[in-house]
This record gives sequence, structure tokens and C-alpha cells, in this order.
Amino acid sequence: MVQGPWAGLPFTLAASPDKRQPMTQTNSLDPQDWTSLRALGHRMIDDIFDNLAGLREGPVWQEMPPAIRAGFAEGALPAAPSDEADIYARFQQTIAPYVTGNRHPRFLGWVHGGGNAAGMLGELLAAAYNANLGGRDHAGIAVERQVIHWSAQMLGLPATTGGLLVTGTSIANLIALICARTKKLGPASRIEGIGAGGFVGYASAGVHRCVPGAFDMAGLGSGALRRIAVDAAYRIDITALEAQIQADRAAGLQPGFLVGTAGTVDVGAIDDLTALAALARREGIWFHVDAAFGALLALSPTRKSMLAGIEQADSVAFDFHKWAQVPYDCGCILVRDQNDQLAAFSQATNYLAAAPRGLAGGQPWPCDLGPDLSRGFRALKVWMTLMTHGSDKLGAVVDHTCALAQNLAQRVQASPKLELLAPAMLNIVCFRYNDSAGRLDELNADIVADLQESGEFAPSTTIINGQLAIRVAFVNHRTEMADIDDLLAAIIGKGEKARLF
Ligand SMILES: *Cc1c(COP(=O)(O)O)cnc(C)c1O
Repeated sequence: MVQGPWAGLPFTLAASPDKRQPMTQTNSLDPQDWTSLRALGHRMIDDIFDNLAGLREGPVWQEMPPAIRAGFAEGALPAAPSDEADIYARFQQTIAPYVTGNRHPRFLGWVHGGGNAAGMLGELLAAAYNANLGGRDHAGIAVERQVIHWSAQMLGLPATTGGLLVTGTSIANLIALICARTKKLGPASRIEGIGAGGFVGYASAGVHRCVPGAFDMAGLGSGALRRIAVDAAYRIDITALEAQIQADRAAGLQPGFLVGTAGTVDVGAIDDLTALAALARREGIWFHVDAAFGALLALSPTRKSMLAGIEQADSVAFDFHKWAQVPYDCGCILVRDQNDQLAAFSQATNYLAAAPRGLAGGQPWPCDLGPDLSRGFRALKVWMTLMTHGSDKLGAVVDHTCALAQNLAQRVQASPKLELLAPAMLNIVCFRYNDSAGRLDELNADIVADLQESGEFAPSTTIINGQLAIRVAFVNHRTEMADIDDLLAAIIGKGEKARLF
């Protein structure tokens, strides 16, 4: 007897071992009736827009209460199904209130993008279509190639430029290093290993930790990255760099990778990229730029000249998830000559063979340009962000956040209780509360932790010339001038109060 939705239909189900339902229905993860899941999906979308519209009213961040934290630290693998509405209620109660908070206009720590609603919808559509961008000939690949083409155009790189969207600049820097390593040590190094090739690279002392990390992961050792002293403006000292290259050559080593940083993580310094490009060309060294957030300066009419020289790079790594406000995660690697990327990563395998037509056409495939085979449709959220807002608007966000930093730096300098610890060159301000009463490192660390725990603001800290700094990075497009008034009042208030006890 057929029951449920099939009752009365003119077919028999004798072929199925379970006479009530065909196998395809019993094993599919799709619901038999979409009504309730559809309604839940609509409710989630409504809740999300309410939440985004009301971000400012809520705390920046809240610590997970111990009971909720404990709920994630225990429990068995859920073997049985749960009701989807209950799962969503659980998300709202135990997850949503306690995530990082970087969407909030008063999140000012590290270098975090704020995300944007159009990009969020792109992510939803990407998940809905579940396209694998490892390769094959389909529209997803065309979208990613368009995003890479736009990125090269933004930075003035030529039409030969290849690239990939990756998790972030950390992996983008690693891909660049592997391209440079293969170019210097030759294709045989991919089979035989790097041996004692003596490959060495260079970056300023302000280099992000992921660059020595890339040397480590690439089997070169982080010690093969020379960290060159910086000048008074926190830029790589070119004279010291040249001396180190000559010393390495004299020692029989092979200089093969020169990193210029466009926007150092501590203070936002930009190396002299034109001078580095000329030096790299003279010396036959691969010139890479880590422009994790700085690349977006290219969209600011007043600040794009700060990047002069980036157009001469052999490769550039940057993030869409920072200043470009694309939801996490999305970084980008651009390689001036895509052939260098293919030389470093392509592999021939029968099960991924090229075909002249059909779905297996459309070479080169992304899987031959980097380390990942299966890849998601990251490009869609970037494409939708750029299409929705336009690059001029993103440039205006960059300018606005730099203006916020200028304003904060001026007001810090004007305050008798505050001390600027580094020049505010871009969107980052490093300063501290200083009432000349001692124990300033502990006091400023406490002020930052208090601000975070109160949910008022989330700056972070760093060390500048041996002193602990409150580090404020303006990245979020939602931050306004008025937020600075409240930030300064809160810092001074907490500093003064701490001295009373
Ligand atoms: C953020 C950052 C990185 C690392 O990028 P991820 O996207 O976090 O992997 C590298 N370099 C600089 C200068 C950065 O600011």
C-alpha cells in the first residue's frame, strides 16, 4: 500500500526494496516537501537584514559565556537528524551573538574587513550553485577570470597576467614564492626537490609573519628570508638591502625573491616599490609585492600614486576580504606572466586531461595555477561586490578610512594624556594613553582588553619601538567620525579610572 505523497499515484514501487519510497527519495538530502525549509530560509534572510540594519545598536563583541562554550567542547557526533528550526534557534542563541564582531563599525582591531550585503548574497548564490572551480569549462571560471582581469587592470599589470582567488594573502604569498623558486631553481627542482640550492629572499623588518611562514612551508627555511632594516618612515632601507644581496652572492647563495610591502601591518608603511623594481630587475630577482590591504589604494584617485612601481611587479598578493569589504575569505594572487604560474604548478594526470570540447575544455584550469584542486566559487561574491558598488565607491571607502586615521592621529597629538607612537601614514594609528605615571604597557593592554570586553570598541595592540601601542586600524566602511569622539572619551576615561584604583 503506497502512503504519503505517493498515495493514489498510478505507479508501483515494486523495484524498491522499501515499498513505500523509491531509493532516490529515501537517500537524498533534499526534503520531500520544500515548504518548511523554504519558509525557514526566508526567515533567515529577513533576520539577517534586520541584524545588518541594526549592527550599531549591539555590542561590538561579547565573550561566550562558559556554559555556551562548554556546549561546543563536548557532545557526540550527531547521528540522528534534528529539526532545522531548532538548529537555527540554537545558532541564534549560541553562535550569532559571539562571533568576532568585525562587521560592527566600532571594530577597529587588526586589519578586518566589514563585509557587505551584496557580497553576502553572492556567497549564498555560490553555495546554492555549488560549482567546483578547480577547472572545466563553465561560467564560474569565466567569472573568476574576469575578476583576475579586473584586478590586474586595477594595479596596472599587463594582459599576460594570470592569477587565482585563494583563501587569503598568506597563501597568495606562498604561491608567489613557489613561482619564484621554480623560476630560479628550474623545473627539475619540482621533481628532485630544492636540495642545497641556496635560494634566499628579502623583505623589510616590517614584513608580515606569513612571508617567513611561506619560506618555511616551501622547504626553504624561514632563515632564508633576510629581514632588512627600515628607515625612519618604516620603509625597507635600500642601501642595506643592496649590501645584503651582495653579501649573499659573495657567499654563493642565490637571491631569488624580493618582497616589497605595500601597507605594513603595524603602521601601514609602503616600501619604495619603484626602487625595488629597478633593483630586482638589475639583480635578476623575482619582485613580489605583499599588498594585502594596500592594493586597494589603487582605487583612490588621491592615494594611488603611493603604489607607484607595483605595476612592475612579477607578482602581487592582496586581499578582497580586507579593504575591499568582500565577505571572508578571499585573497588574490596575480602573476605577471601566467606561464610562470603554470611552470610552478601544472601537473599532467589522466583523470584531469584536457579535451578539445565539452566540459573538459577551457584550459588552463585553476588547478594548474596553484595548489588547490577542488575550489569554491569565491569569485561570485567578489564579482557581485564590484558590480554592485563600483570601484569608485570602494576607492571612496579607502579615502574615508584614511581620513578617519588622520583625524584620530591629530586628536591624539592634541591631547595631553595621549601619545602618538608612529606616524599615521594610511588607515592605522598607533598610540597610547600616557599620563607619565609608569607601567604604561600594562595600563594600555588593560585599556584595550576593557574596551573589548565592554563591547564598546575592539582595537588591538602591537609593539612600536619596544612600547605597547593601542593599534586602531580603520578598515570597516561603516565607521564614522563620531565614533572617534566616543573612542577617545572611552580610552581616556578608562585610563583615568585605572589610576584611581
Ligand atoms: C593581513 C595581511 C597578510 C595576511 O593575509 P591573510 O588574508 O590574513 O592571509 C599578509 N600581509 C599583510 C601586510 C597583511 O596585512
